[in-house]
Amino acid sequence: MTDTSPQFRPATLLVHGGQERSQFGETSEALFFTSGFVYDSADQAERTFLGTEQHYQYSRFGNPTVRMFEQRLALLEGAEECRATASGMAAVHAALLSHLKAGDRIVAARALFGSCHWIVSTLLPRYGIESVFVDGGDLAAWKEALSKPAAMVLLETPSNPMLDIVDMKAVCDLAHGAGALVVVDNVFATPLLQKPLTFGADIVVYSCTKHIDGQGRALGGAVLGPRKWIEDVLQPFIRNTGPALSPFNAWVLIKGLETLALRLEAGCRAAETVAEFLAGQPGIRRVWYPNRADHAQRALAMAQMSRGGTLVTFEVEGGKEAAFRMMNAFRLVAVSNNLGDSKSLATHPATTTHMRIGAEERAKLGITDGVIRLSVGLEDVADITDDLARGLAAMRG
Ligand SMILES: *Cc1c(COP(=O)(O)O)cnc(C)c1O
Repeated sequence: MTDTSPQFRPATLLVHGGQERSQFGETSEALFFTSGFVYDSADQAERTFLGTEQHYQYSRFGNPTVRMFEQRLALLEGAEECRATASGMAAVHAALLSHLKAGDRIVAARALFGSCHWIVSTLLPRYGIESVFVDGGDLAAWKEALSKPAAMVLLETPSNPMLDIVDMKAVCDLAHGAGALVVVDNVFATPLLQKPLTFGADIVVYSCTKHIDGQGRALGGAVLGPRKWIEDVLQPFIRNTGPALSPFNAWVLIKGLETLALRLEAGCRAAETVAEFLAGQPGIRRVWYPNRADHAQRALAMAQMSRGGTLVTFEVEGGKEAAFRMMNAFRLVAVSNNLGDSKSLATHPATTTHMRIGAEERAKLGITDGVIRLSVGLEDVADITDDLARGLAAMRG
């Protein structure tokens, strides 16, 4: 039998972690594409429901393919438990709503993925939960917001799209002092480049749609954390509200994990080259990339992340018009609001992903009309920089 214990190194866990072979001895993880399960007898069904025997019951609560994916992710993260969900937003929603109740407070970094921002700013207050936003890089603001009791803290680091870094250790200490559980959305860093639990985070959430699939195919999400919280708080919520991951998508994501280390290594290397290329070009006002010498929070980024990731954000001179001229001239880089794909994708946040938060909130986040977010893919990096050069030439006219 293959040993899937956690002492293996990450690249090995990505290929073997959590695999459970069926009686057929298949090499690859089996796809159990089934909604339900059958019992040997009515007695076994009763024992299963009593909890005296372990048996799959229904794929809304658990499925062997989904379970392999959850166990692989948990081993990789160093978390006690994991639950997979149908999307990243289902993961964030379940993590917050399973824990919070009327009268609670949540403190969140302002720089959040658009839908996470909506949940905190719009949905939670409807249920009598007070939400407070702070500038994620401002420790004095965190300190003040957490001088009163809070139930949860939500943050994203690096943030979307400006790649701001939040000091996880400092914020976790303040949050724990206020009685809050800290939820870190670790999508931009991936489980390989940053380990929020080692900085004191309690819960880590992923959109597996991004680098974990990494090939633009399937939606998925995951929540990782302490076994007791997952079993007592999160599991009843998931079981009864139904954001379950499809076994088919779990299987795609398992196969995505197998190549994650290779894809990230190539993607980070290409992103570093792209950031360096852009920084030297006329017409570019600024480039943001976490471990570059010119990133304002470089030391913190490097203390928390082993590499800078696959996203590069930059600002062109000439605002929206110039940004659109550049993006419309690309022949390789596609215009898309997605990220973490094998294909390079460019986003204009002010008119797409961050359109709904409004001009005032965008200004607070530094998302000007000249900002473009680039998710660097797996193409030959020289073809990517050639395409960027083509866009810049068109932009400058
Ligand atoms: C994409 C994304 C999400 C949402 O994930 P979906 O799979 O699209 O639901 C949440 N947070 C971050 C940082 C993301 O990039």
